[in-house]
Amino acid sequence: MTSPNSPLLTESFRVTVLGSGTSAGVPVMTCDCPVCTSSDPRNHRLRSSIMLRNAEKTILVDCGSDFRQQALQWKIQRLDALLLTHSHSDHISGIDDLRIYNWKQGCTIDTFGSAQTLSDLKQRFSYIFSPLQEGGGVPQIDLRTIAAQPFNAAGLKVMPMEVMHGKLPVTGFRFGNFGYVTDASHVPDDAIEKLKGVRYLILNALRWRPHPTHLTVDEAIAVAKRIGPERAWFTHITHDLDHEETNAKLPKGYELAHDGLEFDVEAERNT
Ligand SMILES: [Zn+2]
Ligand SMILES: [Zn+2]
Ligand SMILES: [Zn+2]
Repeated sequence: MTSPNSPLLTESFRVTVLGSGTSAGVPVMTCDCPVCTSSDPRNHRLRSSIMLRNAEKTILVDCGSDFRQQALQWKIQRLDALLLTHSHSDHISGIDDLRIYNWKQGCTIDTFGSAQTLSDLKQRFSYIFSPLQEGGGVPQIDLRTIAAQPFNAAGLKVMPMEVMHGKLPVTGFRFGNFGYVTDASHVPDDAIEKLKGVRYLILNALRWRPHPTHLTVDEAIAVAKRIGPERAWFTHITHDLDHEETNAKLPKGYELAHDGLEFDVEAERNT
């Protein structure tokens, strides 16, 4: 409990799932399967990303191939921090569009990631970091390396955790009572410990069939059960899963995420 005079320890945010699809998105180009041709909008999945937003600030997790469309659709008017889970194209390839926020806000965008993620980013977007380039035509991002300790992003205390995506380490994030983990095929014990106590969890679940670098639905259920949130949503979904049909098979409290899913969380302030 906080006394009336103590500073607020948490800050309320609305989480919006901007994309819940795997790297190819759904519909998959050229595919005419029942999910890709479905009229249920929840079967239309842009590349995976979420936003935490309140009246003052907006924090984005991942900035993939569909970022421009997501920003237009959700009227993302400002950006205070970008958190990167890893450097695969479906999570970073929208970075050039951060220029718009540089121009509008007149400042750089703090961009957080593991040492490996940021080193990959520098290689993949070498033109951004080349001293030969003039400013203005490239996104202005301040790279902030995160390790195992909590870090300050836009005034929030964010707890990172390392999960494995095949052999590639990927960063998950906890914001107070909400945890977000994508592109995991294995969630180690210490990551589970860091996530215990969250009320809301978004975790990746690709499909029912096994995959070398992504959790299946059953594996994601098992991981979520160990963490024990009140509600869990699965993301980074392929076209194997029809939204309604899959939800009917999930345990109570667990559902597939969908683009446009929203819920409110209490993030921890960095006091
Ligand atoms: Zn991915
Ligand atoms: Zn399909
Ligand atoms: Zn990936």
